[in-house]
Amino acid sequence: MIKQKAILFDATLCVGCGECYNACKEQNKLPATNDDFLKDHLGANTYTVIEEYGDYYTRKLCMHCVEPTCVSVCPVGAFTKTELGPVLYNPDICLGCRYCMQSCPHKIPRYEWTKNNPRVRKCVMCYDKISKGESTACADACPAEATIFGDRDELIKIAKQRIAESPDSYYPEIYGLNEAGGTSVLILSPVPFDQLGFAANLPKEPLGNYTMRALDKIPSVVGVGGVFLTGMYWLTKRKNEIAKEENDTIKSDGKKI
Ligand code: SF4
Ligand code: SF4
Ligand code: SF4
Repeated sequence: MIKQKAILFDATLCVGCGECYNACKEQNKLPATNDDFLKDHLGANTYTVIEEYGDYYTRKLCMHCVEPTCVSVCPVGAFTKTELGPVLYNPDICLGCRYCMQSCPHKIPRYEWTKNNPRVRKCVMCYDKISKGESTACADACPAEATIFGDRDELIKIAKQRIAESPDSYYPEIYGLNEAGGTSVLILSPVPFDQLGFAANLPKEPLGNYTMRALDKIPSVVGVGGVFLTGMYWLTKRKNEIAKEENDTIKSDGKKI
């Protein structure tokens, strides 16, 4: 049986050096997007960022959910959860509807707004590397063991051990153990997770269960044939409008997307 891989990020150990950010850019051949990595944002050319919250740093990247909503809402199966753990995306069959972006509980996927054939972009957990038995580039680069890579069950044991050995240093939970069905990126923190910008109060149940229930209730939109395509066209058009408004707002703030 293939063991699910995962990343453990420990905010009590992160020194905010940016090595993971640089390694990710290099590994994925992504162009520079900000002279100051601490001011960068997730974007089509930035799969991970380091954010500063008072005395602490945290990372943001795709959480590689155990039962991902992006997979369950994609009408053409452009997103897949691999046996190894990473959630991958196939641009060749993507419709551009961006339900994945709308549905992600962690607000991760970004879009290539400026390209003629835009793709959805996000961390792929260095799938090419880890499928050869290697570690992720960000974990390789981390000098502080704040980002480590391994089997998900082993990382859960390590996380529990760190909390048990230094209870005063940690908020006594592992983010990603159960949130929305669990994730393949696990987080340790010195403070409650919402204080580091993580989505709080997510249900333990995978969110896909809710979307499937919702879809069951709107057969006139998500049905078959012409009705399906008409619904898709309308929803895609509406999502484009919403996204454009959001995009303009973000740009006018002088922030990157
Ligand atoms: S964090 Fe979002 S994009 Fe990543 S696997 Fe989960 S639902 Fe999909
Ligand atoms: S796992 Fe790979 S793609 Fe994801 S943030 Fe780390 S270096 Fe980037
Ligand atoms: S390389 Fe490690 S210590 Fe440096 S910012 Fe990334 S996670 Fe933190």
